[in-house]
Amino acid sequence: MKCDFLIVGAGFAGSVIAERIASESNFSVIVIDKRLHIGGNAFDFRDENGILIHKYGPHFFHSVSNKPVDYLSQFTEWIPYQHKTLGLVDGKLIPIPFNFNSLYEVFPFKYAKLLENKLLTKFGFGLKIPILKLQEDEDEDIKFLSDYIYKNVFLNYTQKQWGYSPNELDPSVTARIPVLLSRDNRYFQDKYQVLPKDGYTPIFERMLNKKNIKLLLNTSFKDVKEEIDYSHLIYTGAIDEFFDFRFGHLPYRSLKFEFQKHNLKQFQPNSVVNYPNNNDFTRITEFKHLMLNQEQKSTTIAIEFPEKYVDMINERFYPIPQLANTEIYNQYFQFAQENVPSTIFIGRLAEYKYYNMNEVISVALMIYENKIKKLKI
Ligand code: FAD
Ligand code: UDP
Repeated sequence: MKCDFLIVGAGFAGSVIAERIASESNFSVIVIDKRLHIGGNAFDFRDENGILIHKYGPHFFHSVSNKPVDYLSQFTEWIPYQHKTLGLVDGKLIPIPFNFNSLYEVFPFKYAKLLENKLLTKFGFGLKIPILKLQEDEDEDIKFLSDYIYKNVFLNYTQKQWGYSPNELDPSVTARIPVLLSRDNRYFQDKYQVLPKDGYTPIFERMLNKKNIKLLLNTSFKDVKEEIDYSHLIYTGAIDEFFDFRFGHLPYRSLKFEFQKHNLKQFQPNSVVNYPNNNDFTRITEFKHLMLNQEQKSTTIAIEFPEKYVDMINERFYPIPQLANTEIYNQYFQFAQENVPSTIFIGRLAEYKYYNMNEVISVALMIYENKIKKLKI
């Protein structure tokens, strides 16, 4: 087999680049994926009741920039969806990120008011404060509050999710979900928050359905790398695997999803409920809440159990943001620059980066414009 571009991985990183090359040139592209489907971790499908299931956990599209939304709008219509999460704290379902509404749910009115006033005087309305920053404040009441939030919202959830406490991870991890000094119950404050009308998978089908793209599923790079004669390689798999783990294994966090069907119209009041302190799982997603007109009599949920990634046993989901891992990654990066400078490594696994979908799409578009478009065959 012969092609101009071999692209390993049919997730967002690989599919965006494949689509761009195929749409703007006559170059031949082969996209391979070891899974049986396209879409990477954004893959979704309808179950027998017609409910759209996100196979690898709930995927909410949000972006501060219009660019990734404009790009994907060529392949989908959208429904507006402002995601909200509830968390079970002290026996109550409270808004997460912790905000002033959460404050009044967990403390008596008078004390909540005092805390609200202190926070407003000190920081101002609308501020977003990472929990590890709020904990540095020396005011006695704010200290009490930050300890409360740390213990009840962050500590156990993070321990379950990562196998580490918040202080053992890069601060950017818990800063994703800051304390909000407002009454905004939304999980994200980004300007663009949407879901694809028919799900994510049709987006990938439309991106990859081009005469100069050949798609091979159930195909691992190591099994075909000698058989495919390519001019350029774009690799979105794990970089440590690509180099046969010569600098050691990059650790990942994996997840086990337990899907359950219930003969109920609704299982929980919200699409996602977090369980920071109870149970072995972190969150339950009820997929019905993600689409319009889901009038089925039954419902499907996914319970998320975090677990250690083990080669060949489960999937790599989350790169673990810790300095020691960045140092291992940097060795791979350096080695790649020196030894295979023409191979493009991009995506969550190849760059060992905790990317959201919008970010990986933006990076793929940028790499296409700045690098790939200029390549000669
Ligand atoms: P992937 O989607 O992982 O695609 C890589 C593909 O490469 C995979 O299909 C894999 O099978 C294939 N591959 C790997 N190695 C090989 C090989 N050797 N040979 C052949 N194929 C190979 N982002 C958001 O914006 N919003 C969310 O709400 C959100 N929720 C998430 C929830 C969970 C549980 C997870 C795990 C991620 C979530 N994300 C979310 C992040 C989102 O999934 C990623 O940003 C996105 O999938 C990254 O795309 P990618 O192409 O880099 O990687
Ligand atoms: N987090 C937490 N409690 C929560 C929600 C989030 O401790 O109720 C922390 C946890 O460390 C988590 C991180 O914030 O890994 C980022 O949360 P996010 O929802 O962005 O994680 P993802 O959707 O990527 O799994």
